This record gives sequence, structure tokens and C-alpha cells, in this order.
Amino acid sequence: MKDSDSKFNTRALHDYRNPQDQQGFVNTPIYRGSTIIFPTLNALEHAGKNKHTLNELVYGRRGNPTSYALEQTIAGLENGYAGLTVSSGLAAITTSLLAYLKTSDHLLMVDSVYGLTRDFCNHILEPLGVEVTYYDPCIGAEISKLIQPNTRCIFLESPGTSTFEVQDAPAIAKVARQHEIVTMMDNTWASPCFFRPLDHGINISITSATKYVVGHSDAMLGLIVTDEDNYSKVRIARDRIGPCAGPDDIYLGLRGIRTLAMRMKQHEQQAVKLAEWLKQQPDVMRVLHPAFSECPGHEIWKRDFSGSSGLFSFEIEKRSRKSIANFVDNMKLFSMGFSWGAFESLILPVDLGNTRIAGTNDIKGQLFRVYAGQEDIEDLIADLDTGLDRYRSGS
Ligand SMILES: *Cc1c(COP(=O)(O)O)cnc(C)c1O
Repeated sequence: MKDSDSKFNTRALHDYRNPQDQQGFVNTPIYRGSTIIFPTLNALEHAGKNKHTLNELVYGRRGNPTSYALEQTIAGLENGYAGLTVSSGLAAITTSLLAYLKTSDHLLMVDSVYGLTRDFCNHILEPLGVEVTYYDPCIGAEISKLIQPNTRCIFLESPGTSTFEVQDAPAIAKVARQHEIVTMMDNTWASPCFFRPLDHGINISITSATKYVVGHSDAMLGLIVTDEDNYSKVRIARDRIGPCAGPDDIYLGLRGIRTLAMRMKQHEQQAVKLAEWLKQQPDVMRVLHPAFSECPGHEIWKRDFSGSSGLFSFEIEKRSRKSIANFVDNMKLFSMGFSWGAFESLILPVDLGNTRIAGTNDIKGQLFRVYAGQEDIEDLIADLDTGLDRYRSGS
């Protein structure tokens, strides 16, 4: 356990939850609404005028007591200055990037990034005239060599999507600070439970709360936590772009926070057991799981993270598309679907295609991404075991 984890549970359960303000009820109620009324001309004229004010009640899009409860809770848990709720993880990413980037600016984007972040760079930012360079996730302090006079932001995602390279966030953040470049990190995999980006020098932490925070596949939600210097910039961008989250989904995020730590520990144990079992199978070439030594950046994971989560990949000898279909079409417990982070196990064949351009893809076999849910571990192993037999038989 890292020092900054102390009191994570207590804080997740008690911070910014005020039963005395809600007639003794334990949980913050759901405030639904658009219009917030002002009693006087003076109050109306001052509404929303100070860009640094937190938790101001101006208009539904800006926030309400439910969203402020989640924003304060998440900022506290991540040792940030302030939190922001948005309508999805992708909205958290695009809002953060749009807060800083304009035509002729340069963005350094990690090559192992989530596919839709990449699509946003290639199909929205580049046509707007933003220059994007994809960098090797294992680059560390060498990122200084890629910095240009117009570099405005460095975006990290650690571990990387599908391939799980763990990035040296402190080294990158240090270089960025020397050049006054803003750093942002997609921290969805670890969640604030196992890694807190701001503790490692990152300016803006991004979480798809759709995954672990909500934890039950029943809402879309994104969270941003910033340091003090970057708060008003990102908050104003969010309010000018407009991706506000719905109050019911925000409530599900708040509820999820209460059980996040214990769920994460359970997913960690389940995934490690599945990865250990997979590693013993003769045709499995390697498991890409940050807690295993063959995963790029494993040493950094050991140094910086306080746990591993439920998502990892394994590489197995290549077989036909028919073999892949035999495997995944007939699973009893593992389902196929995008997203992850809820109670149920998932499996996905991964084809990296041409999504790695910084020379970082050394995958030779067939990649499968596994999400370890909360089912009994013997049942999950049995499902994978018969599934891999079908994969090998190819018929
Ligand atoms: C799912 C995911 C996102 C996108 O989040 P949504 O809430 O689905 O928009 C972003 N980054 C990572 C790493 C993800 O896994």
C-alpha cells in the first residue's frame, strides 16, 4: 500500500456526504433541473461571474448539489483541487484536450491510447490544424526529444489500451513542467483507487467512470480532476462545450465510489488468478498484465501503483478466424462487448491493425483482452479452458 492510500476507504465513504443537510438521509439526493432562480437583480448579475468559484449554483449545465458532491469527493480522493463531471469518459478526454489545443498547436499523444481518443485526434483535432505526434509508451524522460516550440499538451494513458504498457508518468510530467506543457492522463484502468495521477505530477486526471466507478454497466459518466492552475480553464471549456452528465448517472457514480475499493481488490485477485492460469497454458505466449514481469513497464507499475485491476490481455499462437469464433461464440460466462469495469466477465479478440505507428507493437500472436468479473474463479477458469480447447481444435 502506498502512503497516499491511507484513509482512501474512509474518505470514499464519508467525504462530502452530509446527512444533516438532507433530513438525516444517508445519501445525497438526486437534484434534477435546468433553471436555478435568483431572488434579486444583484444576485442575477453576479451569477457565474467569478471563473474560480467552485460549486456555484448558476444553471443546470454548470452543476447542482448532486454533481458537486461527486466532483468534490473525486477531487479529494485524487488529491486534486477540483473535479468535473461530464457525460462520458470520451467527453472527459475531448473536453480536456479542447480546453488547451488550438490551430498550429502540437499534441504528444501516447501510441497505445484508447481507440476513440486516437480517432478524435485523427478526425477532429488534425482537421482543425492541431499537429499530433504519437509517442512510444515506454519513452519516459526521452520524451524531451519530441518536444517542439508549439507543444502544448502531453497525453498519457497508463497502462496502454490492449497492450498494457505502463508509462513513467513522473518522468514525463517532470519534463513537461520544465517546458510549461500541460499533462493529462487517462487513468481508467487503475481508477483513483490504485493510482492518483496528480500525486505523480500530472496536471489533469481523466477517468471513464462508466467502468469501475459506476461498476454495474448501467450508466455513462466521465470524471476530470485538475490541479489548481488548470481548474478554471477546463471547467470553462466544459461549460462552453456542454457535455454535462445527467443527475441520475452522477448519482450512480457517487454510489459506486462507496464500494470502489473493495470491488477493485476483488477484480485484482480474480484477474491475477486468471492470468496465472493462462500463463501455464502451453500455447499462450505471454500475458500482458502490469503485475507480471513480462509486461512492458512492470517495474514502473510496482513503483507507482498500489494495485492492478481486472483488465489484461494474453497473446496466444495465431489460428484462423474460425478458431477465434469457435472460442468466443460459445463461452458460457465471458461475454463479448465494449466497455468493462462492471461485475461480469468479458472477453474480446483484439486486432491492433494499424493503430500502432510509433514502432511499439511487437505482438506476433493472437491477442485476447480479458476482463475478470466477480463470478466464482473455478467457473471462469473452466469456461476459458473449454474455450481454448475449441480455439485449438479449429472446428
Ligand atoms: C472506455 C474507455 C474510455 C471511454 O469512456 P466512455 O465512458 O465509454 O466514453 C476512455 N478511456 C479508456 C481507457 C476506456 O477504457
